[in-house]
Amino acid sequence: MSIQYRSHRTTRAAQAVVAAACICLPAFASSAEEPDNHQHAHVHGIASLGIAVQDDVVTLAFESPLDSVIGFEHRANTPAERSSVDKLQARMKAPGDLFRLTPAAECKLQKAEAESAIFNPPAAGAAADAHADLDASFEYRCAHIDRLASVDVGLFDAYPRLQKVAVEVASGKGQFKRDLQRPARIVSLSR
Ligand SMILES: [Zn+2]
Repeated sequence: MSIQYRSHRTTRAAQAVVAAACICLPAFASSAEEPDNHQHAHVHGIASLGIAVQDDVVTLAFESPLDSVIGFEHRANTPAERSSVDKLQARMKAPGDLFRLTPAAECKLQKAEAESAIFNPPAAGAAADAHADLDASFEYRCAHIDRLASVDVGLFDAYPRLQKVAVEVASGKGQFKRDLQRPARIVSLSR
């Protein structure tokens, strides 16, 4: 297991949870001016998932080392690697059974975004980074938010290299953390 601490420019799950009201901001804008003011643990096999519930909107912020979802962290060099990256990006646009909200709540995906350093061409003069993350966010609007009880997380089925998901939940009922260890998959939204 490889561990690397580094500053991180994009919105983290924790930040999304705290700033749930501002989740509509361009969370993944990679402005060079944005301050690198927090440390992020990049640990292969461990991802994070923020679940923020506000009014009738549920926002999921998923962050993972790329190694855990595609098995490498560099820009694609081969057709097989390109295919893996394409599949990852497609899945992040249509997460399907990666996240299943309580059916009775009738939540519909409104917005899905995913970013990673390897999705874009390297910036001129940028130093090669040995590690890279996936940062994705998903916004659902629910017809019956009062019926929302849990999120069924299918990440372990989809990504065999993933062993643990550190979950942070924030809702009108409070905030708490809960870790999902393979093969667990249900995150209850009540304490
Ligand atoms: Zn890594």
